[in-house]
Amino acid sequence: MNEKKGCQTIGCSVKNCRYNDRGVYCELSRIEVRPCSERTGSGDPADESLCGNFRQK
Ligand code: SF4
Repeated sequence: MNEKKGCQTIGCSVKNCRYNDRGVYCELSRIEVRPCSERTGSGDPADESLCGNFRQK
């Protein structure tokens, strides 16, 4: 499972993030996906995970 470690391209459409490139890619070589703190357990993707590297433009 580790064969892609360090080789993945991060696609992202969060244009409001300072690391976003043209609404298509993330400029960072690595991101950390984190659980959404207090609402975990609902099964809703919006509650369960988010990009921990997001920074407002
Ligand atoms: S840091 Fe996260 S939110 Fe920002 S562009 Fe990269 S993947 Fe998207």
